[in-house]
Amino acid sequence: MNFPVKMDNGDIKVFTGYRVQHNLSRGPAKGGIRYSPHTDLDEVRALAMWMTWKCATVDIPFGGAKGGVACDPNALSMAELERLTRRYSTDISLLIGPETDIPAPDMGTNPQVMAWIMDTYSMHRGHTFPAVVTGKPVPIGGSEGRQDATGRGVVILARELAKRINLDLQNATVIIQGFGNVGSMTARIIHETGAKIVAICDRYGGVWNPKGLDIPSLLPLSNHDGALMESHMGDSISPTDILELEADILIPAAMESQITIENAPRINSKIIVEGANGPVTPDADIILNQRGILLAPDILANAGGVIVSYFEWVQDLQSLFWSEQEVNNRMESMLMKAWHQILEVAEKEKTDFRTAAYMVGVKRVADATILRGIYP
Ligand code: NAD
Repeated sequence: MNFPVKMDNGDIKVFTGYRVQHNLSRGPAKGGIRYSPHTDLDEVRALAMWMTWKCATVDIPFGGAKGGVACDPNALSMAELERLTRRYSTDISLLIGPETDIPAPDMGTNPQVMAWIMDTYSMHRGHTFPAVVTGKPVPIGGSEGRQDATGRGVVILARELAKRINLDLQNATVIIQGFGNVGSMTARIIHETGAKIVAICDRYGGVWNPKGLDIPSLLPLSNHDGALMESHMGDSISPTDILELEADILIPAAMESQITIENAPRINSKIIVEGANGPVTPDADIILNQRGILLAPDILANAGGVIVSYFEWVQDLQSLFWSEQEVNNRMESMLMKAWHQILEVAEKEKTDFRTAAYMVGVKRVADATILRGIYP
């Protein structure tokens, strides 16, 4: 859709937005909304497809969707961001709904944006629909534990992969690319385990200290692009060089296509946990595999977020809310169940974890399609 937004200076600007539903055979569509200058139909379609496989891999009853608006949220005032969000929500309101398609935050959006979407949808319908989006602020129907769920899941997978090479997470060194929602929450939680984060960056650059960074002091700089670079709390490092530093665990948590055929031969970590969606290109994936680098694929490693989004939707529909401990425990047990299923398939089929995860996810979608049959 193309839609006009009144800017603060009185100008009218036309923005392009998208919502794509990829597959609905296992339940209503589920997937985030991204605000980024690079967003286009192909990107949203690919992300919608990943959501189908992700929801199926961790066995939650949703299909896949994704949305986005081509814009730079950092260049918009709060008032402009709100007007853009309300107009975009209105344009997609024929598609979304608690029983049809449930958006959530992704790159460039946050709980406040979800609150505006929920309010806009509810104003059109005449009463409050908390379950129309997830990742909302807790006081209006958000779930405890949602904000850090994706990062928490990433750390669980880092721990499980580390075990496979007899590495205790608390003795591991870690690199994180990205310091937004996923990167910062991963940093906080993995630091709490005792692991040493040696480098972290946002889109402008970051800091590096082989002795370990002081993460609690850096956390207030998350979601403020450029602030890490100016913190002088370590040596400067660029967003691309950071990927090639030496560490036990590398966590790309920024955006897609960061590890490519070009830099894959120089990756200096034993384990990669994909916090972002699609950070490794398919040809780079082959090289990493040949080099024996263990990799937890995005559709499993960052699924903690959508699992807790599912819990948020369930809590909203029942108007009955769980404690943070309950949310975290249930998330870990769902993620671990999926991990064990993937391990079993990987061992049986003698394949890598990404292929095994797809085998589990695609089979569930295929089974649902066959069971439902062809209408009429
Ligand atoms: P965000 O907008 O909160 O943060 C993105 C971070 O990446 C920022 O620090 C930004 O500066 C940095 N960045 C952007 N481009 C970069 C580049 N070229 N090099 C280095 N850093 C760069 O986004 P987010 O919600 O944390 O999402 C990050 C990734 O995780 C995306 O791929 C998203 O699809 C995926 N993801 C997010 C969630 C979630 O719950 N938010 C869940 C699953 C997957």
